[in-house]
Amino acid sequence: MDYEFRVIVEKVSVASQEVVKRDTVKIYDIRPPKSILDLGLRHAEQISLLTKVQNALLAEQSALIDLGYDACPNCGQKLKKNGFMQSNFHAVFSDHQLRIQKHRCNNPDCNWQSTPTTTTVFGTDIHPDLAKLQCEQGSLFSYREAQTNLEKVNCSVRSVNNHTRIQSLTNQVGSRLSQDTLREPSPQDCATPATDLIVQVDGGHIPVKEKGKRSFEALSAIAYQPDNIEQIDKHHRQITKKTCVISGMDDELETIKTFVLNAARKQGMTELTRVTGLADGASNCWSVLLSLKPHCQELECILDWFHIGKKFENVKNALGEGFGKSLESAKWTLWHGEAEETLTKLKLLQDNITDDAKKSKIKGLHDYLKNNSAYLVNYDERESLGITYTSQVAESHIDSLINARHKRKRKMQWTREGAHNVLQIRAKMVSQEWNDQWQDTVLEALIGAP
Ligand SMILES: [Zn+2]
Repeated sequence: MDYEFRVIVEKVSVASQEVVKRDTVKIYDIRPPKSILDLGLRHAEQISLLTKVQNALLAEQSALIDLGYDACPNCGQKLKKNGFMQSNFHAVFSDHQLRIQKHRCNNPDCNWQSTPTTTTVFGTDIHPDLAKLQCEQGSLFSYREAQTNLEKVNCSVRSVNNHTRIQSLTNQVGSRLSQDTLREPSPQDCATPATDLIVQVDGGHIPVKEKGKRSFEALSAIAYQPDNIEQIDKHHRQITKKTCVISGMDDELETIKTFVLNAARKQGMTELTRVTGLADGASNCWSVLLSLKPHCQELECILDWFHIGKKFENVKNALGEGFGKSLESAKWTLWHGEAEETLTKLKLLQDNITDDAKKSKIKGLHDYLKNNSAYLVNYDERESLGITYTSQVAESHIDSLINARHKRKRKMQWTREGAHNVLQIRAKMVSQEWNDQWQDTVLEALIGAP
């Protein structure tokens, strides 16, 4: 070995370029790499080197922390230096101790002392970049999985990444996002006024361990302009711009109604916009959609063809092949907008079945369509006109939102509020608003600002 590799940090005068301090942070051997493992630094060594470089920088920065005391805040007398205070700081990949100057009052009768810490100076001892990672992990995985994931990335166990801390932060950030979604969006956060807008509302169940309950319903909605549906390939479409909202609150739909209104506004809804509302037929979904009516020019609610197709499919599977043709025929008339005839066909089919279980399946489908007859349209005509009649099953679909987080672990015990909060982060990610919004929200949650 002829050479070694030194990592050096220097403190340099900007004006004179004179090196005033120079430290060797680490020395590595330079050897021929025998395998891919020897190329560069191993994972743990990278973190270790980063920690050392950060320590050197933080030592310089700590000395410059100005607490803003000109005189004793107690008696107004002069202050004198009084040693240093060691204080924690948690960076993204490393934990540090800051050395902050302490002061003491010169007046012996007063004896005031400052006890500065990272938290008293900055409001928190966690770097927001770490808090962001914790929120993202906490919104996608169980809090224990989030802890494990962060430990893996970090090559070490850090108390700051403990699952209870991740849970608490995720909750606070989610709660702030929820508050934010309740506020009417400012004009600069809204798309240019839309002529047409589509709003889909959907419900999904979140497992919960509450007294006498197995789950509760969360409602989600997604608003987008028809122009923002993009065909990726023959079978797949994506929505390039959308606002997704979700609520798990038990408040007679109050939260979700405000969320949906603000989501629609963000996507450009004005009093001149024609809104097409799509839902699966559940009455609470219609009620959310209908609440948009006073805020737009026209609201047309349509029973989502995607869900109709699914219902027919279910019944077909339950009834067996023998009934396939009759069901297809009923579906065909429905597709062509002849709802009455469809209902007659289903009723006839129901009367011709003797098996009680199968009979009730058909009755279920019949009643579903009947209850939603106000929202049945000529789907065939809409398709040939190129206008909306079915939801875009994107990643924003409620089941994938919930599944990503809430159905993963059966033993997870959600409270409504906890689930509601964590879903706010998911909704912001899906709406592509998280990247712009996380910093303010995370800082507010960490520092406790209003
Ligand atoms: Zn004093």
